[in-house]
Amino acid sequence: MSRRFKTRRIKANKAYRIDELADVTDVVPATVRQWLKDGMDRLDGNRPTFIMGFQALAFLEARKAKASRPLGLGEFYCFRCKAQRSALGAMADYVPTSTSGGRLKALCSVCECQCNRNVSARDMPAIRKVLEVVNRDSW
Ligand SMILES: [Zn+2]
Repeated sequence: MSRRFKTRRIKANKAYRIDELADVTDVVPATVRQWLKDGMDRLDGNRPTFIMGFQALAFLEARKAKASRPLGLGEFYCFRCKAQRSALGAMADYVPTSTSGGRLKALCSVCECQCNRNVSARDMPAIRKVLEVVNRDSW
């Protein structure tokens, strides 16, 4: 995904303020506040907020592992579910956007909202084995 951060400069036994953690991970402080909202641990009862390096590492490494799991053939990332989902009815529409690839459109098998995925034309034969794909000129 598009969220990029660095964990190499985080020292496990150092306490970081929000702006310090933002600095070592190469993000803006608002991103660190979002991590806290998303469940990153912090030191209790401190103002300003302090986050131990190991707390930040545990949270960010877990997030990295999740983000780097590649989509399986015929899987889509659903932005409503915030998870990888299969296509409803194993069906998808394919719209070529260039000679080398295009976009697959399917409905999430869980929430039925629309999911898109960019694919390479090279992968289409394999994808057609797991999904029933209909070619479209446009949406
Ligand atoms: Zn969904």
